[in-house]
Amino acid sequence: MTDKRARDTAPSGNMPTTTAPPAGLTSRHLLGIEGLNPLEITGLIDRGNVFADIIQGNGQNDGQNSGRFDPPLSEVLRGRTVLNLFFENSTRTRVSFELAAKNLGGSVLNINVAGSSVKKGETLLDTATTLNAMHPHILVVRHNCSGAAQLLSQHVDAAVINAGDGRHEHPTQALLDALTIKRRVGRIEGLRIAICGDIANSRVARSNIHLLSTLGAEIRLVCPATLLPAAIDSMGVEIFTDLEEGIEGVDIVMMLRLQTERMEGTETPSQREYFNLFGLDRNKLMRAAPQALIMHPGPMNRGVEIDSATADDVEKSLIRTQVEIGVAARMACLEALASGEGAA
Ligand code: ASP
Repeated sequence: MTDKRARDTAPSGNMPTTTAPPAGLTSRHLLGIEGLNPLEITGLIDRGNVFADIIQGNGQNDGQNSGRFDPPLSEVLRGRTVLNLFFENSTRTRVSFELAAKNLGGSVLNINVAGSSVKKGETLLDTATTLNAMHPHILVVRHNCSGAAQLLSQHVDAAVINAGDGRHEHPTQALLDALTIKRRVGRIEGLRIAICGDIANSRVARSNIHLLSTLGAEIRLVCPATLLPAAIDSMGVEIFTDLEEGIEGVDIVMMLRLQTERMEGTETPSQREYFNLFGLDRNKLMRAAPQALIMHPGPMNRGVEIDSATADDVEKSLIRTQVEIGVAARMACLEALASGEGAA
């Protein structure tokens, strides 16, 4: 990594300039937050912070062009191929990985699943064998089945990054969320964070619960009883079924989309009724701490889990910043895997 640019760039946000080294991971894959130790998590966040300083300092933060650098910031992926394999739709995450890889000097291949043999009935493992023959160094995979990334990791030579597997985990989203909070608030420890909405179907919730509680935040889950996952009690969270009670006094309100693609149809009332009870608007937000900030991993269903006035509130909403910081967080992850065994 050509760290000189990182050191020379003034920080934005409240954090001091960091010169954190590339993060080290004990595993050659990044399959989930569960299984990472606190040092690995903070190593990735600190390194992402260095990249975020550069991206935000570059003035490319209008949400349209979140941080493409030419020439790249680093050569760590020079001569290496990152293969984006998305079996589910994605805009933010796929583009963010693509930018991140190019900023590290890598080449990127995007596999369009809709046009690939996967749609013709090829199994995940056949796909793995085919992809292996292309010798990618890092495989970024999103799949609608929990465990798909782990299964692939056992059958390919590449280092695998889980970009979302079913309801299970979305580790890079949690890392970017934590980095966004840390840059804005200055810390995670001791914060009261409410994760609200469709928890049962959310891999973002699961990864964030692991990560934010590991770093010392107090986590509340707020959702209808029908959208609570089984065995949630063991995760050390507080549970609320009333939005206003659940966000009382919190520092961060993280809203989640109703993921109807993973529902059976009986979990929620009508969307209008859902918004009345669980949708965030300015009135309900008044119950949170006065300085409370709003987050959402996107895509948002405006008028279902959040209204537009709240989502677009420039003082309180971190939603656009999350997208921008995503590139930095993913650069830290790609760099960590490239520096380790996985991409060698
Ligand atoms: N983009 C996030 C995910 O892939 C959240 C969502 O889809 O609602 O899980």
